[in-house]
Amino acid sequence: PGTKLPRVGTTIFTVMSQLAAEHGAVNLGQGFPDFDVPPRLVDGLDRAMRAGHNQYAPMTGVAALREAIADKTAALYGHRPDPDAEVTVTSGATEAIFNAIHAVVRAGDDVVVLDPAYDCYEPAIDLAGARAVHVPLDPATFAPDWARVRAAIGPKTRMLIVNTPHNPSGAMLSADDMAELASIVQDTGVWLVSDEVYEHIVFDGARHESALRYPELRERAFVVSSFGKTYHCTGWKVGYCIAPPGLSLEFRKVHQYNVFCTFAPAQHAFADMLREEPEHHLGLGAFYQAKRDAFREQLLGTKLEPLPVPGGYFQLVDYSAVSDLVDTEFCRWLTIEHGVASIPLSPFYESPPPGQRLARLCFAKAQPTLDAAIERLTRL
Ligand code: PMP
Ligand code: GLN
Repeated sequence: PGTKLPRVGTTIFTVMSQLAAEHGAVNLGQGFPDFDVPPRLVDGLDRAMRAGHNQYAPMTGVAALREAIADKTAALYGHRPDPDAEVTVTSGATEAIFNAIHAVVRAGDDVVVLDPAYDCYEPAIDLAGARAVHVPLDPATFAPDWARVRAAIGPKTRMLIVNTPHNPSGAMLSADDMAELASIVQDTGVWLVSDEVYEHIVFDGARHESALRYPELRERAFVVSSFGKTYHCTGWKVGYCIAPPGLSLEFRKVHQYNVFCTFAPAQHAFADMLREEPEHHLGLGAFYQAKRDAFREQLLGTKLEPLPVPGGYFQLVDYSAVSDLVDTEFCRWLTIEHGVASIPLSPFYESPPPGQRLARLCFAKAQPTLDAAIERLTRL
């Protein structure tokens, strides 16, 4: 009685990683790279700690890092946020998303999320006393149906959450999508969270459509990113939020009493890294595209059918030719009986499409890891 998140259990990422460890499975479930962090970044972290940057960072983030984020944003998206008033460094994108929701969403409000949706959105909405209104993405292409999004927005809607490139599907919003989005939110009181943690992992020459490119979107958006994805260090938990001054002010009220500040040595290390190796993130698309292409080629030798991957580091596969099990059961079976851990899609939905037989495989892995997985998957 009185519990606040009665429908929440342990996250599917933890469940599948534990199951993988128990059964010695190759873990392509939870999304994290298994290769090294850039050595320069590790040197920078070591240097920062030895230089004495071991006490509280400024609440909003180390100034040199906020400057570097502003410069990078200007170069990429043609808009330079004010590093003092509009950039806040957070303990991962997860903290940023939580803060954004709690900064503006009140009890009784509605927040629109597009299913399948990353798992941290809804619990944060629930804890705010608000209601998540789920609008399904197209089950084949994972594109938004903007007419349905428009129809879901009403007088109680306080926020809309979008994610591009999208986890779990890799789908990306197009410039046309951004125009639709802008026309839907204009003249409303709806704030946006734009979850862009995979912003640099985009393929085949596609352009990442950041909300920051569009004045009519960025004036109402919390744009969230994560250094974990960009620098292969998901365990460092450093991310950031870019939002207009008024929204950043409210965001920081939550941040300052949530964590107060983010791990200081890493902030110095990222500031140095962005200055010394500004091209790192520019090579990330090609780096992961090569992995994607090699992995997809290997999957052709299995009975799993790979879906297109426009961005991000997850490959969805249709397993209908292998099994009739529902996805959670299939992923357990695959881990226990065949030694490959994946992530089922149904936990990303309020109501999963009936008969959907999809699993998510993470290809942010060294080739020997992917080879070991493929060897096992070939035997299905
Ligand atoms: N959003 C999405 C779409 C993600 O995939 C992730 C990480 N898996 C996050 C947010 C959280 O990022 P962080 O680890 O920096 O908290
Ligand atoms: N974002 C990662 C994924 O989608 C998982 C992060 C987590 O375990 N919370 O796999």
